[in-house]
Amino acid sequence: MEKETLLYEGKAKKLYFTDDSNVLWVEYCDQATALNGARKEQITGKGALNNQITSLIFEKLNAEGLETHFIKKLSKTEQLNKKVSIIPLEVVLRNVVAGSFAKRFGLEEGIVLEEPIVEFYYKDDALDDPFINDEHVKFLNIASDSEIEFLKKQTRKINKILKKIWTEIGLTLVDFKLEFGRLADGSIILADEISPDTSRLWDAKGQHMDKDVFRRNIGDLIETYTEVLNLLEKTK
Ligand code: UDP
Repeated sequence: MEKETLLYEGKAKKLYFTDDSNVLWVEYCDQATALNGARKEQITGKGALNNQITSLIFEKLNAEGLETHFIKKLSKTEQLNKKVSIIPLEVVLRNVVAGSFAKRFGLEEGIVLEEPIVEFYYKDDALDDPFINDEHVKFLNIASDSEIEFLKKQTRKINKILKKIWTEIGLTLVDFKLEFGRLADGSIILADEISPDTSRLWDAKGQHMDKDVFRRNIGDLIETYTEVLNLLEKTK
């Protein structure tokens, strides 16, 4: 497989074409952002940690028979992904109250939800990724009713697998964000990444083992993500 020209540079990744039009070469970068990109920092080693963590998680999801974009890890910072057209939604699932959900509803962080809640945010930096409902998703022509149902069902199914993975290493999966994409035939598969950048993970002592250490300035991101990777590697 040959790496070709740059297709897209996002906040934390660079996507390159390859000699196969169905495959992208993805490089994870060291930039950390918060407040929708308003705060930016280079953190050496972050890209390698997220690439390795997300590769391990996607390998496990693929092994469970879930359809994902992940093909294989190439190096510490690179992986191959199936080329998809990303659906402009951040699909968030919450098991425990935290972050914007706590703020929106005036709740304490840490309350366990009886049933997981799935939310949609419209991926649009200029609009600050607004919270939207199913009817907005349909109105904006992002997805049809049956696709919306599929996204919710898949997200709940993925939650069950992820909860098992994180519980095995002593972490509580508080919430996480997924992105999905369409293959050329229109089918929808899981895309993007699953890492401490996109998931809230609390340890048994309630310590934050995720990007909140950066967002809230409460710990060292590299030390935290290294611990998460080391724990995950033991379950390989
Ligand atoms: N999240 C993400 N990207 C975003 C916004 C949120 O990956 O642009 C993840 C975040 O890491 C958390 C979950 O989605 O695991 C829910 O985030 P929340 O809505 O609470 O927003 P925050 O408090 O992080 O602003």
